[in-house]
Amino acid sequence: MSACVLVVEDNALNIELFSDWLEGEGYEVRVAPDLPSAFAAVEARAPDLVLLDVQLGEDDGLKLAVAMRQQPSLRHIPIIVVTAHAMVSEKKRILQAGCNAYLPKPVDRPVLLDHLKRWLAYPMRQAADT
Ligand code: MN
Repeated sequence: MSACVLVVEDNALNIELFSDWLEGEGYEVRVAPDLPSAFAAVEARAPDLVLLDVQLGEDDGLKLAVAMRQQPSLRHIPIIVVTAHAMVSEKKRILQAGCNAYLPKPVDRPVLLDHLKRWLAYPMRQAADT
């Protein structure tokens, strides 16, 4: 069974791009284009990994990470963040929310795929080296 990746992203071009890359690698892709859809998606069926955009319209995508880390059935799921804000303060906020890794936009395909492989192989690992 292929790993299921939930792509939480509000930008249509990025959704298309990430979906193409992930499906090309054989992953099952689910998409949530906003925060309420993302909450509904993880409740409906836990994905194997979440690719999370921080800025979801007016909403803060990190709210999903915080909520997942508080829920026993979801807290082990790796969360990889993509964000346009590469400041140190933002990185700290992302890691404090319980996300595992952090990728600046524009996202590089090989880098993203490498992170997916790593985090799907070691879902319980704690991030510090990204
Ligand atoms: Mn966005």
